[in-house]
Amino acid sequence: MSSSRFSPALQASDLNDFIAPSQDCIISLNKNTASSRRLQFKPKENAVSTKPQEEAVKISLKDCLACSGCITSAETVMLEKQSLGDFINRINSDKTVIVSVSPQSRASLAAFFGLSQSQVLRKLTALFKSMGVKAVYDTSSSRDLSLIEACNEFVSRYNKNQSSAGKEAGAHLPMLSSACPGWVCYAEKTLGSYILPYISSVKSPQQAIGAAIKHHVVQKLGIKPYNVYHVTVMPCYDKKLEAVRDDFIFSVDDKEVTEVDSVLTTGEVLDLIQSKSIDFKTLEESSLDRLLTNVDEEGHLYGVSGGSGGYAETVFRHAARALYNREIEGPLEFKTLRNSDFREITLEEEGKPVLKFALCYGFRNLQNIVRKIKMGKCEYHFIEVMACPSGCLNGGGQIKPVQGQSAKELIQLLESVYTKDVLISDPFDNPITKRLYDEWLGQPGSESAKRYLHTDYHPVVKSVTSQLQNW
Ligand code: SF4
Repeated sequence: MSSSRFSPALQASDLNDFIAPSQDCIISLNKNTASSRRLQFKPKENAVSTKPQEEAVKISLKDCLACSGCITSAETVMLEKQSLGDFINRINSDKTVIVSVSPQSRASLAAFFGLSQSQVLRKLTALFKSMGVKAVYDTSSSRDLSLIEACNEFVSRYNKNQSSAGKEAGAHLPMLSSACPGWVCYAEKTLGSYILPYISSVKSPQQAIGAAIKHHVVQKLGIKPYNVYHVTVMPCYDKKLEAVRDDFIFSVDDKEVTEVDSVLTTGEVLDLIQSKSIDFKTLEESSLDRLLTNVDEEGHLYGVSGGSGGYAETVFRHAARALYNREIEGPLEFKTLRNSDFREITLEEEGKPVLKFALCYGFRNLQNIVRKIKMGKCEYHFIEVMACPSGCLNGGGQIKPVQGQSAKELIQLLESVYTKDVLISDPFDNPITKRLYDEWLGQPGSESAKRYLHTDYHPVVKSVTSQLQNW
């Protein structure tokens, strides 16, 4: 997949974001590749080079480490500018536009406007539909699909691990969650092939709803998948990088189809609301599209208690039940270790730990855990890994603290809003996921589930770095 889907072309003024005076290179825009947003690094004219014929180094989105460093920042500025405009253009095209909203984005807007999450989704539905969007879904059901597949994968790995040395295919423990593209991108680009087999093969909720819409819902509706423009509303910019992965693009009638065509951050949706001078608080509410949104008769939405998707909690409960016949009632008590972003929980049988799970958020904690895995000293069976400190509620695309509000106060508010007005439920009880398995996927872990809801990871050669070293 090329990056040509990003348009419009990069403007010369955008290059200012990339050029730092201290850099040993300048960056130029190749006119022939401007539309594909490819940049080229070229040595400065006065730079000493022993290889004058060396080809210019190309940098694209694929080189982004999602590290919040220079390339990400610059790409972020561009993507931020383009996504909203592109979204509005697509609404005015002949495509069927569908929007899927993450629960973290819902919570961020609910906290900002002082509304319930259900009200936010109803008002967003009204807003988007007034602009021409055909359907607005909540991604909680696709998150439940991802959670069910993760539960199934974990039990399979655990059983294989118990009966092998742990290094055969599909037996690697700890299983590392895969819903955070910042973490996956970092692992592929900096940790190499050693760590990748530990990462769960399950797609994130964003890509799971993309697969459900482009592979299944379109068939029910009698639409060609390439005639649907699917937009997600997410808490971070890294979701934009995730959406353009080659693994999430397929072909129908010789046409390229992308599971998720565009990603808007929560902040961009707020920009949209404010740019239209809409009084969101008093905006009329619309009924919800129930095809993929799980809502009860009274209109309550369903959720899980973990602000980053509830992976550790859901898999822990399921594994205790499936492997040790233990039903765990009530909230799980995670023990805080060196900081609140590193917590663990253990299930014991006859005084011996049989399940040891951890939440590991932020790159500092993440690097420590990776070091332990590499040294063979990691005692966990499952780790919910998230790149952002405090997890997805604190994603870089969420609405920023208001004046007088600290970042910590905002996170506390979001954590309470996230579970306040939703019905906490077991993903296995979700009638929408049950229907999707019945109609489309078969069983958890089936060949169809693997085909549509699982993915691969690829160690990436550090092309830029290695080529720069050869100068
Ligand atoms: S942890 Fe941060 S980077 Fe990762 S998916 Fe969540 S919001 Fe995005």
